[in-house]
Amino acid sequence: MFADNLFLKIIDKTIPAKIAYEDDQCLAFHDIKPQAPVHVLIIPKKVIRTHDDATSADQALLGHLHLVAIKLAKELGLANGYRLVINCNEAGGQTVPHLHVHLLGGRDLTWPPG
Ligand code: 5GP
Repeated sequence: MFADNLFLKIIDKTIPAKIAYEDDQCLAFHDIKPQAPVHVLIIPKKVIRTHDDATSADQALLGHLHLVAIKLAKELGLANGYRLVINCNEAGGQTVPHLHVHLLGGRDLTWPPG
């Protein structure tokens, strides 16, 4: 169903990425195929394959990803608004088996998404 977890290689810097933020719990980097002028992926360093795989032990970590998204939205000039997306599993459009939050903005986003 999934390709390899290439985000592990971005975490360990084997694959280069344009990093927007990093701390001990998470990494944020610009998407290689941006769907908006700002398109950043915020990922936990802990391996959680999908949103469905998160447990109560990950509660603070999930909250942290959201707070990092707020910080980055401010830093990247998204004062007019932005969208957070988590694709979960195949029908949800997930292609990389490592939980990630898409931060999208910089244009007027339409609804519904495809
Ligand atoms: P998903 O479809 O799983 O929700 O999102 C995966 C995202 O990872 C896609 O938006 C895709 O463009 C991005 N992506 C895939 N490979 C790479 C890569 O090597 N580097 C970066 N920066 N983004 C990637």
